[in-house]
Amino acid sequence: MSTQTDTVTTENDLLARVTVAEGTEIHEPATGDLLGRAPEHTTHDLERVVAAATAAQPGWAGLGHAERSAVLLRIADRIEAAAEPLARLLAREQGKPLNGPNARFEVGACSAWLRATAATVLEEEVVVDDGSQVSVMTYRPLGLVAAVGPWNWPLMITVWQVAPALRMGNAVVVKPSEKTPLSVLALVSLMAEELPDGVLGALSGGRELGASLVAHPAVRKVMFTGSTAAGRKIVEASGANLARLTLELGGNDAGIVLPDADPRAIAQDVFWGAFINTGQTCAALKRLYVHESIHDEVVAALADVAKATPLGRSLDEESVLGPVQNSMQFDVVSGLVEDAKQRGGTVVTGGSPLSDLGPLFYPVTLVTGLHDGDPLVDQEQFGPALPIVSYSDVEDAIASANRLDVGLGASVWSSDTARAQEVADRVEAGTVWINSHGGVHPMAPFGGVKGSGYGVEFGVEGLKALGVPKVVTRPAAPVRS
Ligand code: NAD
Repeated sequence: MSTQTDTVTTENDLLARVTVAEGTEIHEPATGDLLGRAPEHTTHDLERVVAAATAAQPGWAGLGHAERSAVLLRIADRIEAAAEPLARLLAREQGKPLNGPNARFEVGACSAWLRATAATVLEEEVVVDDGSQVSVMTYRPLGLVAAVGPWNWPLMITVWQVAPALRMGNAVVVKPSEKTPLSVLALVSLMAEELPDGVLGALSGGRELGASLVAHPAVRKVMFTGSTAAGRKIVEASGANLARLTLELGGNDAGIVLPDADPRAIAQDVFWGAFINTGQTCAALKRLYVHESIHDEVVAALADVAKATPLGRSLDEESVLGPVQNSMQFDVVSGLVEDAKQRGGTVVTGGSPLSDLGPLFYPVTLVTGLHDGDPLVDQEQFGPALPIVSYSDVEDAIASANRLDVGLGASVWSSDTARAQEVADRVEAGTVWINSHGGVHPMAPFGGVKGSGYGVEFGVEGLKALGVPKVVTRPAAPVRS
């Protein structure tokens, strides 16, 4: 167990643990200020961390489920004790505000997921009992798991990857996004305080380091959350070590608003489905298909919510929407909106940068008058711009939802749940929500289809994905007469 148990009172205590004198500069998206320097780990560091994790794993696996679950609960306690410093560090590094479904919410989700993962039971399964043989399947640890994550929900996604891996008796090496390393390194340092040395390690660096980690011969499983492009590279790399993969990749979630939906009643939930984390969410609503009979009312209701929703700096207690995290994503969002304007799209609200606030602030932007095939509809914007497309026949809306090579989430909005269910059944996505969008639950398996990846996280299925099935077969006991 780590000896580093110094008190965490502010985010600066966490920063002191993880920043280095010479390293990659990490700037705050909201202000541009230097937050700190992140380590630039080398392949030498990679070998050291992998060796420590590999050596520690058998002992960790040997503890058994009950003891490992107890450790996860203690980690949850530790995160709760440091919740405010973690949330402030996350807000400063990622850019998301403290309030709303943002930094404090994300830290709360970390401890909630740890507790749920600790409580989930993976029972042994009698797969054959036919009078002559009994075969019992259990799940054994895989060994070493690599956890590679993105910058949008860096803490929560790290816990989604790490908690079930630890619960199942694996050791884990985390490689956070190079855009948000400090908050993840801080989280890992807190978690490691409750774990035997080496069981949980972290490496800070870019995609080359990530590529070296996932291809390492000791890695038996990769938990990857990020872009579809990087996911494809990881599939190729896994050929070398035959690592198993859970791939949570990009999406372009469609929402279908049926003609019987009540525009004012759904507006808040549609809005947050699209703009949670200022639109930088994998399973955010990214294109909205609205029946022509209520199109204008839905657009007006959403515009009203947008105008009433405060956007501002991350540490401002009033803000619930924040900056775009980085200039690359900012350019994607603003470029797609400019293109939409040139194609004749109508900007209902937003549509140009909020330069007075800072270089990365972009307002909630609603664009109508677009069609399938337009880049803002077809490409993942991953930011605060939503195309709203009018349709006349629900068959066309279903075909539109299904026409892209991604399928993470989708939603159907209607006053008639049975009708919504019929439509939901025909939409190609890992999750389809009715009258909401994007909510996740620790017991509901979550994952994508097509270019959004494969494998699921959460619940019993999520635990199975971090173990390897093992079947023991014995003769059936003779029947006594
Ligand atoms: P990204 O793919 O650029 O980077 C993600 C992580 O992968 C980073 O840590 C990066 O360093 C690493 N990486 C990049 N190339 C790699 C390689 N070849 N081998 C190993 N590691 C590599 O993604 P991003 O820009 O950080 O995140 C945004 C994307 O992630 C969006 O497309 C979004 O939809 C997706 N996402 C998906 C989910 C989900 O659950 N499906 C959740 C969050 C984000």
